[in-house]
Amino acid sequence: MKGETVYVLDKGWVELQDVMGDDLAIVNAARVSYLGESKGPEQDRKLLLYLLHHKHTSPFEQVEFKFRVKAPLFVARQWMRHRTWSYNEMSRRYTSDEIDFYYPTAWRKQSQANKQASDEMLSDPKATATADEMIHEIVAKCDTTYQSLLSLGVSREMARMVLPQNLYTQFVAKVDAHNLMHFFRLRMSDDAQYEIRLYAQAIYHGFFKKVLPWTAGAFEETLHWG
Ligand SMILES: Cc1cc2nc3c(=O)[nH]c(=O)nc-3n(C[C@H](O)[C@H](O)[C@H](O)COP(=O)(O)OP(=O)(O)OC[C@H]3O[C@@H](n4cnc5c(N)ncnc54)[C@H](O)[C@@H]3O)c2cc1C
Repeated sequence: MKGETVYVLDKGWVELQDVMGDDLAIVNAARVSYLGESKGPEQDRKLLLYLLHHKHTSPFEQVEFKFRVKAPLFVARQWMRHRTWSYNEMSRRYTSDEIDFYYPTAWRKQSQANKQASDEMLSDPKATATADEMIHEIVAKCDTTYQSLLSLGVSREMARMVLPQNLYTQFVAKVDAHNLMHFFRLRMSDDAQYEIRLYAQAIYHGFFKKVLPWTAGAFEETLHWG
């Protein structure tokens, strides 16, 4: 599990760099209240559900995950609003290497019901082709301008200003299981942007469910309880 990578979007990925703890670590942390430990799978699973249902959240903080992520800037910006994670990100003040851009495979239309969301796909092939052409054209122009500014001797910290939001960045991010479940609730939800939803789902199915199968079962049961 540690060292495994799940792939997201056209060039993105999430690598599980480290993990500390398992379902039993949560169970045993909860039972330290009365100096107890595991009471067997059935009782332990029930306990995890009870803890989640009653928002007895601190035992879930005993399990930690560390990821290395490659994601477009606009996804990273949404991600880093989650203040309970610890982050370190690559800096375009230090490096002009690995300039990769995200190109969507389809275009979503503006939702009429939700001002900040998208819903149906842009189905008109002519409009889709024009949108594809436009993004490739402007991104190529940004990339060329960036390289030209560097060639002129402009500093990396200034030249980066012309790079667009679909530029990929990389960061390491550490979080405990309680705050990771909070991230899942918000970012796997239908109203989260499609691209960050894919990252949240990749972490959930690729790592979380495998490291914490009992907790994931309880999480899924409580997901719609409010
Ligand atoms: C669909 C969607 C749309 C969004 N749209 C916008 C938008 O238009 N504009 C915008 O600015 N943001 C937007 N956000 C970001 C959102 O407001 C949160 O910043 C982000 O989801 C992180 O959530 P959080 O603060 O609960 O998580 P975390 O920062 O991980 O915090 C987890 C919990 O810890 C507690 N906590 C953490 N820090 C503090 C603190 N300083 N004081 C008190 N309690 C704290 C809170 O209970 C919080 O819920 C959006 C998020 C989503 C999911």
